[in-house]
Amino acid sequence: MLTGGLAAACLVSMSLTGAQALAAPHDTAGSPLAAHVLTYDAAGSAEFRSAVDRGAAIWNESVDTVELRPAASGQRANIRVLADNGWPRALPTTLGNGTVYIGRQAVDQGYNTIRISAHELGHILGLPDRKPGPCSSLMSGSSAGTACTNPYPNTAEKAEVEGNFGGLLVGRAPAPGAGLIVD
Ligand SMILES: [Zn+2]
Repeated sequence: MLTGGLAAACLVSMSLTGAQALAAPHDTAGSPLAAHVLTYDAAGSAEFRSAVDRGAAIWNESVDTVELRPAASGQRANIRVLADNGWPRALPTTLGNGTVYIGRQAVDQGYNTIRISAHELGHILGLPDRKPGPCSSLMSGSSAGTACTNPYPNTAEKAEVEGNFGGLLVGRAPAPGAGLIVD
């Protein structure tokens, strides 16, 4: 009986996995849709380069409809990432395009560089600030305090980005809240 119960549990587990696979975005032929690829150029991000790469990788682990890839040398990137001495900020143009500044002012105050990077990339992916907010929210930004090092978007933030890039707005609509977003 125990063995049978375990086998049944395995079957349930397998069918759940199959259902989840079918729930992922598919085209009309039933193939998984390719992620929308955005390139980023972190050549100007100085000492924050590895934090920026990690922030991009976190988004790639977190969502399926968009993928951030380092731009090839000389390629015009969708996203430019620069280091400067100001406060971290993003300047989205259209959804998925714009410039991010990893500002040393916040880093010097003790804010986590990977959280900053993922947060600013989140603005380019169409997310607004959600402040004040808890550390579990990526877009709560600096309002979660310097002790907060969480660089991962929460469930709602992931779903919002999936929706932004799973729809037909990519490359057409202005980014939500287009214009300079400080922090
Ligand atoms: Zn922000």
